[in-house]
Amino acid sequence: MASMIFTDPSSAAAVHRLPFTRFSNDLISLRRFVGPLHVRSPTHTLPRTLSLRSPRSSRPVSASMATEPSAKVIDGKAVAKQIREEISAEVSKLKEAIGVVPGLAVILVGDRKDSATYVRNKKKACESVGINSFEVHLPDDASEEEVLKFISDFNGDPSVHGILVQLPLPSHMNEQNILNAVTIEKDVDGFHPLNIGRLAMRGREPLFVPCTPKGCIELLHRYGLDIKGKRAVVIGRSNIVGMPAALLLQREDATVTIVHSRTKNPEEITRQADIIISAVGQPNMVRGSWIKPGAVIIDVGINPVEDASSPRGYRLVGDVCYEEACEIASAVTPVPGGVGPMTIAMLLSNTLSSTKRAYNIK
Ligand code: NAP
Repeated sequence: MASMIFTDPSSAAAVHRLPFTRFSNDLISLRRFVGPLHVRSPTHTLPRTLSLRSPRSSRPVSASMATEPSAKVIDGKAVAKQIREEISAEVSKLKEAIGVVPGLAVILVGDRKDSATYVRNKKKACESVGINSFEVHLPDDASEEEVLKFISDFNGDPSVHGILVQLPLPSHMNEQNILNAVTIEKDVDGFHPLNIGRLAMRGREPLFVPCTPKGCIELLHRYGLDIKGKRAVVIGRSNIVGMPAALLLQREDATVTIVHSRTKNPEEITRQADIIISAVGQPNMVRGSWIKPGAVIIDVGINPVEDASSPRGYRLVGDVCYEEACEIASAVTPVPGGVGPMTIAMLLSNTLSSTKRAYNIK
């Protein structure tokens, strides 16, 4: 069993450089700004459909458009689809080889509509790749002890390889107690202090990395965008996105600055970045004047703004003013369709790697 090799669909596998003739002109123009481009080993190579494309076109950019100054789109939706297909193949292989199906348990407390939607999407995503999902839905007035009891049961259940507590929890619950109760071996959200501590320490490996920041780095990897030696600015320092994103960039040898709500001159600092990861929650806060020409932008923000022309009366925008970024950056994630789909893909990836770890499969 130990001799079976399964690949990790989201790990930072070795990269190798392809000759320039293999790149489209778009990628060559990108190279000017972000340094030498690398393309991942064949299993990680982006299919043609995932090549960087012009932000205003859904079609891949043709050679004749290569001199256009606009940024190229980092298509999170397409990358996430590719990753889900890889995970699905791995799950089938696992089932065939040892009869084990990965399982993810999700605990939802209360009736927040957004949380219910996230949980539903996670369940659907599990089903789509063949991962079993177990859902516990408790009322808003459930006690902390009830939640802890479910966590304890899932901790001891061998058919569950990942446990996720949907945040935020009702205010009468102690989030810290609850997250700490998830065994580190099943902490697929990567929020356990031991996992975060290991992430922060040189020479230590976390068992899991939080899904959204992991998705940001995976996008950079899959598009062959260099991190090593680059100046990176992370805007936001939350436990779930900004802080782990900064730690991950540092592990990848970027020189990292964190900008937060008390930072003086955030615009000036951000303008020095080759890579910007923004996780703030303020619509269009990062304007064109904040962006260094040629920078790569990963926009984590998801912000509803009023839009009378939309049937829902609102639309979602990022933290970064997309139109302005497109004129200045070399590559940018759209909102929606950028980081969002990657978060769920990384959750599936963490659940798969947890299962493989439980059975000592590489
Ligand atoms: P959060 O916990 O509210 O943290 C926001 C961070 O932004 C804080 O560190 C805060 O600084 C900083 N900040 C607030 N206003 C600022 C300003 N004017 N200038 C500079 N920094 C400022 O939010 P979060 O959970 O990290 O989420 C951030 C955004 O990402 C939200 O829009 C959320 O919806 C989105 N999100 C997306 C995904 C996804 O899958 N795509 C996943 C998670 C979150 P202080 O620390 O000083 O308060």
